[in-house]
Amino acid sequence: MAEKKISEKDSKALERGQKDVKFWAESIADTVMTREKFHFTEAKVPKLSNWVVKSSSSLSGILHIGRLSDLVRSEAVYNALKERGFPVEFIYVTEDMDPLRKIPKGIPESFEKYIGTAVSDIPDPFGCHESYDKHHLEDFLNVVGKFLSTMPKVYSMREEYKKGSFKDDILQIINSSAKVREILNQFKENKLDESWTPWKPICENCGKLQTTEVTKIEGSKVEYICKDYEFETRTAKGCGFKGVSDVSKSNGKLAWKSEWAMQWRRWHVCAEGAGKEYESKNSAFWLNAEICERVLDFPMPEPVFYEHLMIDGVKMSASLGNIVYPKDWLECSRSEALRLLYLKRLMKTRSFSWNEVPLLELELDRLAVSVSEKKGDEKDQVNNERLLHFVSLKGRKILPLTVDYSLALMLAQLFPTVEEAFEKLREMKHLSGNESKEELALVKERLAFAKAFAETHASQEQRISFAESILPDSVLITPDLKPLLKAISEKVNSAESAEGLQSFVFGLAKEKGIQPQKLFTVLYSLTIARPQGPKFGSLAFALGREKVAKRLLEFSK
Ligand SMILES: [Zn+2]
Ligand SMILES: [Zn+2]
Repeated sequence: MAEKKISEKDSKALERGQKDVKFWAESIADTVMTREKFHFTEAKVPKLSNWVVKSSSSLSGILHIGRLSDLVRSEAVYNALKERGFPVEFIYVTEDMDPLRKIPKGIPESFEKYIGTAVSDIPDPFGCHESYDKHHLEDFLNVVGKFLSTMPKVYSMREEYKKGSFKDDILQIINSSAKVREILNQFKENKLDESWTPWKPICENCGKLQTTEVTKIEGSKVEYICKDYEFETRTAKGCGFKGVSDVSKSNGKLAWKSEWAMQWRRWHVCAEGAGKEYESKNSAFWLNAEICERVLDFPMPEPVFYEHLMIDGVKMSASLGNIVYPKDWLECSRSEALRLLYLKRLMKTRSFSWNEVPLLELELDRLAVSVSEKKGDEKDQVNNERLLHFVSLKGRKILPLTVDYSLALMLAQLFPTVEEAFEKLREMKHLSGNESKEELALVKERLAFAKAFAETHASQEQRISFAESILPDSVLITPDLKPLLKAISEKVNSAESAEGLQSFVFGLAKEKGIQPQKLFTVLYSLTIARPQGPKFGSLAFALGREKVAKRLLEFSK
């Protein structure tokens, strides 16, 4: 696995960071490296030479950008450990043994018959992949690398079960059913009885997983009957078959509350991400942690609890039609902007709306500026430096750009091609001519992002065009403003830069004792027929100076 090179500056910051301010992923890394004892017992944490940071996704749902949060956050902990010289690998486990629980939008109703079957055992409804889960997984895995510096090693639970990788662990857990049951019963009102086992066989007759009910256990042989199982909205139909499952052949699955623990020991997991719902002590995370330590004699991983991403304040779902795919993001914005959204804080509620892309991009620009200009006190500086360090992708610089996303968005709407928009930036003097090749390439990338964004996701308020006609009485122009409009009209024609025009208007308002906002509202109303807009200086250049000057002159009379 490739190692992240640390520059001298970074390593100094790291040193300082270790002393006082730490990025959250660094704090978790330090906890992992300094822990000596188990959480539930007094046992000593073993010194291993191959630890793992694990991320995973359930494949019964859609792989939207929310699924990247676990990967991005886990990778940050992996990077922090790696930078500290800890022997660690990064893995991604696909939970493809999860059963289908409902028929998502776009999947034929005939798939009803697969409710209760592991998603990796269901055919691809679109016919192009070997199974249901692979259809979504392939696209996802193809873009995941664009959001990460290190591509994790990918494991499939279905494959691991098939290969018999867990055989011994499964037998150990089943032989310790009583102990596992005791741990699980701590928080259960309806206690599990002695006939309970964490093993869930796959029905030999119909291939379903959720429908089998264990009736008897003898050594590694488990007797079961295949019965109906009620999910929230759908029923998994059992076939009535009575069979015997041989645990050592692994045709089945451990219950989630013991399977997770088994994964931790199997891969030597030292840290793993989990949604904040797992924080409570009776959650599957902590129950597995106890099973891991008390039954499997392996230390639980350090949790990375985080808040889930919402879209416009609600959960992403196919039926709501608000799914954001990673590839949609990459058309409109830098992957680092999404990384910033995820890495900035772990536990603050995060909601995303498409119209916030320009703001997220601006936040990333500002972070880059704060770091390059060393803004704030020493604590702020270290904080910003560490955040930017973790947000950055290997081999890609985040430069402070002078052309912000909102400006790019305006130009992208007013000019048919990126090249024309780019030329306009020169005319406006937003580009000085001293930019590096790298910077210019990033400006062009931003214009292309903004163009894609304008075409697909821009809100009504973000759309801009020249108002071809303005009714004479529709804009309130007090007599004191008229001479100003005339002066601005002339300046629009003669200004050398967008910035120059902008400060002229500002200075003029001040000089005449008029509230700048009042004047700008009139200027926007006369050009784009709305009370607000982007900086007027840039706007006038972008709309076309001649027609803007003409319009202002017309209303100055
Ligand atoms: Zn397919
Ligand atoms: Zn069956």
